[in-house]
Amino acid sequence: MSVNSIYNKKKIAFFSTQPYDKTFFNKYNDEFSYELDYFETQLNPQTVLLIENAAIVCVFVNDIVNEEVIRQLAEKNVKIIALRCAGFNNVDLEAAKKYNIKVCRVPAYSPQAVAEHAMAMILTLNRKTHKAYNRVREQNFALNGLLGFDLFGKTIGIIGTGNIGKAFAKIALGFGCKVLAYDIVENDEMIKDGVSFVGLNEVFKSSDIISMHCPLNDQTRHVINKDSIALMKENVMIINTSRGGLIDTACVIEGLKQGKIGYLGIDVYEQEEKLFFRDLSADIIQDDAIQRLMSFPNVLVTAHQAFFTNEALTQIALVTFNNIKSLLAQNDIENKAALLV
Ligand code: NAD
Repeated sequence: MSVNSIYNKKKIAFFSTQPYDKTFFNKYNDEFSYELDYFETQLNPQTVLLIENAAIVCVFVNDIVNEEVIRQLAEKNVKIIALRCAGFNNVDLEAAKKYNIKVCRVPAYSPQAVAEHAMAMILTLNRKTHKAYNRVREQNFALNGLLGFDLFGKTIGIIGTGNIGKAFAKIALGFGCKVLAYDIVENDEMIKDGVSFVGLNEVFKSSDIISMHCPLNDQTRHVINKDSIALMKENVMIINTSRGGLIDTACVIEGLKQGKIGYLGIDVYEQEEKLFFRDLSADIIQDDAIQRLMSFPNVLVTAHQAFFTNEALTQIALVTFNNIKSLLAQNDIENKAALLV
């Protein structure tokens, strides 16, 4: 029998599966009755061979979905690539078009989850609660070294005012901050709420805190670089919960060493696919840049956990299943933002 005739229309091969993915996707599968095939490994040109007769693959942020992988998926008669995330910079959409494979994503599962994590990073870096937590456990009740600043009245600059940037702006306004924003499209509702849209350089020049919420693409790659850092205020705080590639890591390390960057909070990292979502506590990390970053007392790294809330995982499972259901039934999805190809 040829591969073409035996593939299973309702079988989904999951890559980069974590225990919590299984929990949430299994929980919501009753009404859909898909056959779920879970692989812990990342999808890449080698692991694509694991797929057996599945018409659908479900991938996450660090799976490699380049032309080579897509060509192999097409040979295996895969019809749908379902991203269980919002960002899609890891997928070659042109190749998917060429091989006639549909690509869908979960455009907005919980913007609040990511926006709230960005604010949690700001508060932690500022008020040093992570240090205080350890300190009092050692019965050290001194306050030296824990000095913070009032957020009230400070200027927060947001790059990218889509679902997450908008939610983050509301939180920042709630703290009494002045909010500047840069996006390729201005948002009238946000202007009414009190956000000022300005040029990108103005965000760099005037912000005490810069938080990034734009996608990674050719225009935004390394938007934080030597030149943009030079424009920033002394002691600026930079927060990146979007994609690691927005930051030129070497330049940021230099900015931290010179004291120009006062605080850095990153939930994403340029080379994260070799590190994040794994327990490497017994390994020798070969990536010197992340080790250098983690050695700074004013740098907070979380391992791509901004999305990680109960509400977000529920939405991710339900929207992914519904996207697939619509594509199987009518080759289309009502929510146009969910359909990439
Ligand atoms: P969105 O599509 O709703 O918004 C993105 C915004 O960026 C849009 O308003 C768009 O106009 C703007 N934009 C595009 N190009 C730009 C440019 N060159 N300069 C400035 N702005 C530009 O996306 P979202 O749901 O708000 O997500 C934003 C990003 O957050 C995603 O691309 C993803 O990479 C990241 N993300 C991270 C996590 C996490 O767990 N850390 C979770 C979800 C999403």
